[in-house]
Amino acid sequence: MQFMKSFEVPVVYRSPLITAIKKKRKEQDRMKKDFSPALLDFGPLHIYLARHFGFCYGVENAIDIAFRTIEENPGKRIFLLSEMIHNPQVNTDLKNKGVQFLQDNSGKQIIPFDQLSSEDIVLIPAFGTTLQIENNLRSIGIRIEEYDTTCPFVEKVWNRSEVIARENYTIVIHGKPTHEETRATFSHASSTAPGVVVKDMKQAEELAKYIKGDKPSEQFYIEFKNQYSANFDVTKHLDRIGVVNQTTMLATDTQAIADFLKEVMVNKFGLTEKNIKEHFADTRDTLCYATNDNQSSVIGMLNVPADLAIVVGGYNSSNTSHLVELCEEKLPTYFINSEEKILSAKTIMHYNFHNCSELVTQNYLPEKEPLKILITSGASCPDALVEGVIKKLAGFFPASKKVNDLIPEFL
Ligand code: SF4
Repeated sequence: MQFMKSFEVPVVYRSPLITAIKKKRKEQDRMKKDFSPALLDFGPLHIYLARHFGFCYGVENAIDIAFRTIEENPGKRIFLLSEMIHNPQVNTDLKNKGVQFLQDNSGKQIIPFDQLSSEDIVLIPAFGTTLQIENNLRSIGIRIEEYDTTCPFVEKVWNRSEVIARENYTIVIHGKPTHEETRATFSHASSTAPGVVVKDMKQAEELAKYIKGDKPSEQFYIEFKNQYSANFDVTKHLDRIGVVNQTTMLATDTQAIADFLKEVMVNKFGLTEKNIKEHFADTRDTLCYATNDNQSSVIGMLNVPADLAIVVGGYNSSNTSHLVELCEEKLPTYFINSEEKILSAKTIMHYNFHNCSELVTQNYLPEKEPLKILITSGASCPDALVEGVIKKLAGFFPASKKVNDLIPEFL
């Protein structure tokens, strides 16, 4: 059983406090029904930690394979296709151990494939990769299967796409067009069926206009440039569709887009529940368990009246940005990638993912007692980073308990 598998993750990424909290919460709620946060009561500071956050199955699997590969292959050249996961600390640690990156996040080549030989090791990241890259590496003689860290939940989306393709549906992928996972899913899906990527509801609405014939078909190829498969015929390929999504999208958006496109097809073809399958595949979302658990936990955490939220994770992490999005709707939210961004009790440097820039905010901690802060992190963020954030915040309250004093409460 997949979830029973445990992985070897370097101890430096773990946190004794958070390990104790997660273990206790799991024991108390094996069925994962309670999404309320855990309270860390420092006295003048109350920190509420989300029920689920941090390394997911796919990330632990990737880290385990990557560090084991380094250990077992001294003297060999080891490459990563691109960032293994979206966490700067983990990627830097791998680089420091001699791993070289072949491409950047957008797929731009850093080291040409023709510099590789069959003796080299190439790790495929947790997001998976495109069929074209898989074939390129195989043609060099590289044994990619041995060092493939593609998450099984990403492969599940590919399998779902294959089923839809076999039934002659065009695959609509809700995802970020330049994200490694969506590029990989698009490549796998469009090898067997026409495919098109929509990044958000706005694009889904534009796609609907082509489905209904409200927009001239030639415009589709401009508007959806780089987002449709080869030989895509907008006049034919939007009559029978199925929707899958990147595993880390916002659950509410994913549901809204699938419902919207279903409605468009129902109206265009006058469908009923009996014959809907003639034009719209019976799909459920393909979000992974970690995305669902982490988003549900943020929703549960937001029930606590608090003063601010801090979300920890890589700035290019899709799943983390959605946790930020949920928090932002309710209260001041600071997206940081390490405790170092907390410059002092007065000043914080944080990331605005809407315009992709870092900014500095003054007086982010209101002067009140107890101060209530909600904290969560993305699926590629080590717990040690979250503990660092907690320690830094607690350090601003000299009269407060020490982090280690809290561990016995959770043992
Ligand atoms: S976020 Fe989900 S799909 Fe991505 S690596 Fe983690 S478990 Fe796998």
